[in-house]
Amino acid sequence: MSAPSDNMPIAVSAPRTRPLLLRHLPYFIGAAVLVALAATMQFDGYILNILMEATTFAIAVFGLSVVLGLCGQINLAQAAFFGLGAYAVGIGTSDYHLSYWFCIAGGCILALLAGALLGMSTLRLGGHYLAMVTISFQQIVTLVMINTIWLTHGPDGVSNIGRPDLFTSAQSYLAFCVAMLALVGYAVWHLSDTRLGRAMRAVRDNELAAGVVGIDVFRTKVSAFALSAVLGGLAGGLFAGGFAYVSPDQFSFAESVVFLTMSLLGGVASPIGSAIGTGLLILIPEWLRFLKSVPGLYLAIYGLSVILIIRYMPDGIWGFVNLATARWRAKARVHAAGLALLLKPATIGGNIVLEVKGLAKYFGGLKAVDDVDIEVRRGGVHALIGPNGSGKTTTLNVLSGLYKATAGRVILDGTDVTDMPPHQRAAAGLGRTFQNIRLFRSMTALENVVIGAERPGNTLLGNGGDALTERAMSALTFVGLGVRANELISSFSYGHQRLIEIARALAANPTLLLLDEPAAGLNSSEKMELHELLKRIAAQGLTILIIDHDMTLVSEAAQHITVLNFGRRIADGESMAVLRHPDVVSAYLGTD
Ligand code: ADP
Ligand code: MG
Repeated sequence: MSAPSDNMPIAVSAPRTRPLLLRHLPYFIGAAVLVALAATMQFDGYILNILMEATTFAIAVFGLSVVLGLCGQINLAQAAFFGLGAYAVGIGTSDYHLSYWFCIAGGCILALLAGALLGMSTLRLGGHYLAMVTISFQQIVTLVMINTIWLTHGPDGVSNIGRPDLFTSAQSYLAFCVAMLALVGYAVWHLSDTRLGRAMRAVRDNELAAGVVGIDVFRTKVSAFALSAVLGGLAGGLFAGGFAYVSPDQFSFAESVVFLTMSLLGGVASPIGSAIGTGLLILIPEWLRFLKSVPGLYLAIYGLSVILIIRYMPDGIWGFVNLATARWRAKARVHAAGLALLLKPATIGGNIVLEVKGLAKYFGGLKAVDDVDIEVRRGGVHALIGPNGSGKTTTLNVLSGLYKATAGRVILDGTDVTDMPPHQRAAAGLGRTFQNIRLFRSMTALENVVIGAERPGNTLLGNGGDALTERAMSALTFVGLGVRANELISSFSYGHQRLIEIARALAANPTLLLLDEPAAGLNSSEKMELHELLKRIAAQGLTILIIDHDMTLVSEAAQHITVLNFGRRIADGESMAVLRHPDVVSAYLGTD
């Protein structure tokens, strides 16, 4: 894709003055029509059952579109949460004659707590291990359903489940479920554009980067699990009322896999995909019913069609449609270039912004960083240099909290941040970029920078709904990429991706900016642009600690240099003096 020319006009986006609910009136009218149809069409019992199943299942699958689609965390226990809600309504209304509303609320809370608990296991586990933990949870719930006979009636299941007085007929209850589906769908659809939704997407795309831009990764994952679980519980409660009978086999591991397949088939990234996948997976077996006379054939065709769809549409059916229309939508949305970027680093007034004392980081026996002191003065550019493997990146990783220091203290603008996790350091004013670029790759340039702008404690963020976009556009325009704001990261060159990473850090208005080899991989003209950009940043008084190999850039841009070799500080001081220091010369050029 070619870069747009500089004089391309930038249209101003229409001011969003109409309230959210009014803008989405068509959605609610559509939903109301569906509810009215569900309430009035005279379905026979068979169709009614299919619709009831599809409606309640879709709500559970929405849960997966939150935890897996938005947040990227595998959950193979959705049927267990579904079961918790179903049994709460089942046992509560049938055995204890409690109110339906009370029971379904209780089921949701139960699922929420269990989901949050399961989410907490993500603190130490990810990937395959997390999958195993969710499967174990699923099995435990199934075992309890089967074996706690005094409570659950065991394999016999619970019958005579009640419905709310308002919706006693099957038809009116279906209409109620469709209304719930529409409400939940609306909420899930809009979740991705909220602070929490953006945090989830950032965690999914790049956990490390999410942390250093100020997102509490652990809390975000726990929230995703809890939300997903509560939707599972709600769906289960509705399901129990719909069918008036539940038994353990309806909530087994196999059912969790069905939920997962539904979400992957339709497209896990969006609730629309969830609805499509659920509908299809319930309908395909009905369409293929006529094949049931030939043993095996039905299952073979069913399985094959699911495999084919997932093979050729890896992002699901809705993901496929979305991709096909992405170009067109990027053109349709244009944002104002934004005001000139203002940087107003917070200050306590002291002369030293960053004080590193006796910092050490050992990897087993390897002393990657050993007893290093650094003092970064306010408002200047400070360079950290040294041969490959001398511990520069490791130092930065300890500074931003990605590694825990083996020893030493880190004081940022008067605050001791040594024991803080990355997101708290970001909130305290630390911004950074990575040697190997870490952007949120499924998002546009603008979305990446918006997440930066959203950093807790960003004092320059204006009020109003568009403040985030405005701040992000200012930062993107500052690095020269404002006109390409809506393009996906993959369409940018390496050099431009580095600039987007810098814009993401600048949008947060940090007190101190850490840059890890920003010039690596750039051609000479890009390096000149970068150099000019650094000057413009420094001109606004933002303090920069930069790692770079390019001695020309370092000697021109930095007033102060610290040199590392084999993890130890071998020189420190005013630039010219340091570069002439015999130890530095020999570290770079060899002793001869
Ligand atoms: P630089 O950025 O100066 O090139 P690094 O800080 O990346 O160097 O690496 C310093 C040393 O620490 C190297 O020997 C490297 O192999 C080692 N190292 C860096 N990260 C890790 C890690 N996560 N585990 C083990 N060793 C590491
Ligand atoms: Mg490095």
